[in-house]
Amino acid sequence: MGRSSMVSVLCALVLAGCAGRAPEAARSKDSLLRVVAAASAEPRSGASAPAPGTSAEEAAPAHDDEVDDDGGEIDDGLDLAAEPGTGARAHSPLAAMTEAQIEELLSKDPAALGPMSVGATNAGALFNGIRMPESDRWELVDPGHAWGTRETIDALDRTIGEVHRQFPGSPKLYIGHISDRDGGHLSPHKSHQAGRDVDISYFLDARHRWYQRATAANLDRERTWAFVRALVTESDVELILIDTSVQRLLKEHALKIGEDKGWLDDVFQYGSRKPRPLIRHARGHANHIHIRFYSPIAQESAVRAYPLLVKRGVIKPTAYYVRHTAKKGQTLGSLARKYGTTVEAIKRANGLRSTAIQARRVYNIPRPSSGPAAPPKHVVVPPRRLPPPRAAEAAPPVRHEEVGPALGG
Ligand SMILES: [Zn+2]
Repeated sequence: MGRSSMVSVLCALVLAGCAGRAPEAARSKDSLLRVVAAASAEPRSGASAPAPGTSAEEAAPAHDDEVDDDGGEIDDGLDLAAEPGTGARAHSPLAAMTEAQIEELLSKDPAALGPMSVGATNAGALFNGIRMPESDRWELVDPGHAWGTRETIDALDRTIGEVHRQFPGSPKLYIGHISDRDGGHLSPHKSHQAGRDVDISYFLDARHRWYQRATAANLDRERTWAFVRALVTESDVELILIDTSVQRLLKEHALKIGEDKGWLDDVFQYGSRKPRPLIRHARGHANHIHIRFYSPIAQESAVRAYPLLVKRGVIKPTAYYVRHTAKKGQTLGSLARKYGTTVEAIKRANGLRSTAIQARRVYNIPRPSSGPAAPPKHVVVPPRRLPPPRAAEAAPPVRHEEVGPALGG
């Protein structure tokens, strides 16, 4: 039950507007309803479309995997409630363009529109994604699935660069999945659909493999903390998933080197009762870090261009689903009646070949009015959580010897 319930209880805010405290309140098996916006990248054969990835037929059964509790899926689909009332509204250069201008670019030079992160990270798509480049600072575990937004790629490069600035000659990190070229479902993940999620290794002391478990014996606390600190303070990170056992090691290290306890409590879920930790536990994250970045420009561009992307068949229209955890005795027929839809529609939405369903599994129930829905609303990036300035930072000592008279003019 663990994985799907963990995610499902988080009444999710794929769409803006749900009251902020929902996740804790909804911790009941009977309220495992979740509204997700589903979109998948299905490039058509039009000249302007990017190289085709999956067809609709191939993509559909992926839902089966998505709700399979025993399928080895990684618990990375957590949706956070939007932080109420804070942060900066993102802006896209597309906001200044007319519909006609966007449409013309879409047909003549779609790349000029820039990357777009469409929809939710667990039900979205990526348009004009950028592949993570090769580097001597990291190794791409699966280069074919390392596509992200400009913001994601840049934030990774910048924050890893910060570790190398502090610790020259640091070993390579492994970078696992980001997103498929066109986004959409990427097994074995719930998220990773919109170019904003990244799986990345911890810094470990010894030579290590991808997906090697971080422990007290092998975790390179200095470098890993420097990396996580940079993510928090120097990038627009939305969420970091780290196993509690590793959070403890990192937080203890941070305290030891004099980081502010109040700030750490605000950032780490481990050892804190603050309501909105950035770094959270999710099963399956003792062997890698899952990072989700905001991509304000790519997300806003997607909101702006969405109707045209749909119109031109670049992406499929966003459909809305309710996530329902089946109870004993329920059948597709009873679910169809309950939600005012049909058995066939539920089968299609979940890639089911028969009408058999299982108790405690989560099913996508298409809402009866699946008209041309709009994608999630405008993105608001909350302010970064910065530690209080240290005394030394607050009043940097003036280093007179560096300010010679020759420079004074
Ligand atoms: Zn992940």
